[in-house]
Formats: sequence, C-alpha cells, structure tokens
Amino acid sequence: MQALPAPTFDDVLDAAARLEGVAHRTPVLTSSTFNERTGASVFFKCENFQRMGAFKFRGAYNAISHFDAEQRKAGVLTYSSGNHAQAIALSARLAGIHATIVMPHDAPEAKVAATKGYGGEVITYDRYTENREEIGRRLAEERGMTLIPPYDHPHVIAGQGTAVKELIDETGPLDMLFVCLGGGGLIGGSALSAAALSPACTVIGIEPEAGNDGQQSLARGEIVHIDTPRTIADGAASTHLGHYTFAVIRKLVARIETVSDVQLIDTMRFFAERMKMVVEPTGCLAAAAVLNGVVPVKGKRVGVVVSGGNVDLARLAQYLA
Ligand SMILES: *Cc1c(COP(=O)(O)O)cnc(C)c1O
Repeated sequence: MQALPAPTFDDVLDAAARLEGVAHRTPVLTSSTFNERTGASVFFKCENFQRMGAFKFRGAYNAISHFDAEQRKAGVLTYSSGNHAQAIALSARLAGIHATIVMPHDAPEAKVAATKGYGGEVITYDRYTENREEIGRRLAEERGMTLIPPYDHPHVIAGQGTAVKELIDETGPLDMLFVCLGGGGLIGGSALSAAALSPACTVIGIEPEAGNDGQQSLARGEIVHIDTPRTIADGAASTHLGHYTFAVIRKLVARIETVSDVQLIDTMRFFAERMKMVVEPTGCLAAAAVLNGVVPVKGKRVGVVVSGGNVDLARLAQYLA
C-alpha cells in the first residue's frame, strides 16, 4: 500500500465537509469559577458530548469515508484501548461495513460493551506482554481488511483536527491551546487547525506524568518509546508517537507538559461538581494542566480540549470517594 502524504489544514477542511451532519458540533462551554481560579478566559471544547463519547468518532469516520468498494467489502480492522474501538465500530455501522477490533483484556468494561453494542467484533490481547500492532497487522493481512490505526494515519489526524477548527470558528483567535496526547492524533490535527485559524496561538500538549514519551520525544527530536505506563488516563497510555503525528507535533507544538493522576481526579471532580459533566480521566489532562498552573495562563484567552467522557460510573465513584 502506498504511503499517504502528510496531513494539511486542507485535509481538515475536507474532513469537516465529510463529517457535516454526521458528527455532532459539540458545545464550547465556559466556567466563571475556572476563570476566577486561573485568571484566564478559558473555552472548553466538550468532545465528551461527541457521538460515542469522544473526539475519536471524527477521525474514524473520516478515514472510513475514504474507503473504496473493495475495502468496504472486506471491512475495517483496528486495535485500541477503547475509544477508537467504539469510534471505528460506530463509523463502520454507519457505513454498513464489518469491523474487527483488537482490544486489551483489561479495557474498561463500559468501552468493551459499547464496542460490541455498535456491532464490532472484539478480539482481546494482553497489553503488558503482547504487541497490538503486530496482532493487528497479521489479522488485517489474513482477512484482507484495511487497518485504521488509532492515531498514526493522515485521515485520522485530519478528522481529529475538526474539533479545534470548530472551537476557533466559534471563539475567534486564542492565545493558547491545551490538548492532551496519547499517540498524538488529536493534538496533531488540532495544531493544523490552530496554525491556520489562529497563527499566534501557542499549542501545548499534556500527557500523564507516568507516560511522558511525547515530552521526551520533543526534547530529543526523535520518537522515544516507553513501557506501557500505569495511569488512570487509559486513553493516553500509549507507548510512542507515530511518524505522521510526530512530524506535525515537532513543527507546530510549542511544548509538552505532564500532570499527575491525583490532579486528574481533582479535575474530574471539578467538572462533575461545577460543570455537571462526566469527563473520563484522559479527558481531564488539558484542563488539569491549566487548573494547576503547569503553564502560566493569567490574562490569556485559552482553549482547552475536553477529549472524552467514557468512564465506568462505578470507577468514577471510586475515584471521587
Ligand atoms: C485517544 C484519546 C486521547 C489521545 O488521543 P491521541 O490522538 O492518541 O493523542 C485522549 N483522550 C481521549 C478521551 C481519547 O480517547
């Protein structure tokens, strides 16, 4: 298969047209309490209200919308710790094609159930001992299916970029934009949109403290691999950036910082108590960084991507107890 060219803002615009009327245009919310605490004017792009509960629907649907007749017939395959699985399963159902998803055996129950609920075929593996990329590649080859990875694909990155395009279309130019990252698909697409629509905006990536491979990669100028990090931010527990995502991040992301699991729990509580929103731990990364002053934001117009809201309610109750 021929490698696709690196994604550009034109690809984000193309994705926005494909997603029109299919993806939700999620709300941009504000909180005066959050603004008072931080001294900034903060705009939350609430992708926890996206279809299937996270921004991942955007990239998955965009990627599948590019399939030709032969690819549609064989179906789509992916590996994912959760939200990309649901995104592919739902997008495949909407497109009327088959989806097979390789998931870790310890993925949150809500995510596994939702994936099956959307009609996806689930195959499990051990994320501490087996390599999901190898399993995915082997299955795709055996079954002739098209592999859509969770982040390192131009159509996925372009689709994810539509959330921040909508955000800046609504708020106008921003001084700073905080985006969480795992493999970097969301922040890659977000940075393309920010660079085009608000060129003076500083884009800052936020990772879990336990898994700062992106921060290390940016510092070293090459992709750094780490062991699977143990963090409650399961959506950002990836071990390395991708080639497409790192190329964009290197060019357009100013810095990458980290927050702790305790700070994530405090932020989950803030969202629940003050904004009446269920946000999953990974979805709290960017807001947690702003709330804890990881980067000074006083007096700035700040965008924060709230990336998803899929968390087992029993687990949420444990975190908040
Ligand atoms: C996948 C995911 C992320 C990380 O996205 P990448 O594109 O891998 O950087 C962040 N938050 C949520 C809720 C996710 O599902």
